[in-house]
Amino acid sequence: MDVYGKNPENETGRYFRASVWGWHPLAEYLVEVAPNLMGKVTYLHSNDGDGLGPEDSVALATALQQALTSGHTAAYVQARDEAIAALPRLTCRFCEGTGTRSDEVGVRLGFTARNWCNGCDGKGDTESWEASYSLDASRVREFAAFVRQSGGFEIW
Ligand SMILES: [Zn+2]
Repeated sequence: MDVYGKNPENETGRYFRASVWGWHPLAEYLVEVAPNLMGKVTYLHSNDGDGLGPEDSVALATALQQALTSGHTAAYVQARDEAIAALPRLTCRFCEGTGTRSDEVGVRLGFTARNWCNGCDGKGDTESWEASYSLDASRVREFAAFVRQSGGFEIW
């Protein structure tokens, strides 16, 4: 996702980039910290140009800064990471859980001969898909700095 400052005060407020895997958990956290402000953003999870105006952006930055300072962000990130780590692992779809990829590709690339699978590194299972979506406090800090100086923002 590309988030653009509408009227940036400086370079920091011009642009914020996040992968899909980084944006969704960050967006969820924005709603957690500032539900009233974020309630104004209808299209938070898609690239439709939705966003907030300048005053709401400063208010959001202030709420995020308070959450970072109070330890709310660190506790949220830790709880989130623990919840994801506790999710059941997924059976690898390339080797069907055997740890050896023996389909056409596996045979052709010699994985069958080595008793290995490139989908799971031979383990037979993989992390839950939620583990691909990451959030950490430094990203929250980065977004707070962006949004404070953005003059309002749009999500594309
Ligand atoms: Zn596998």
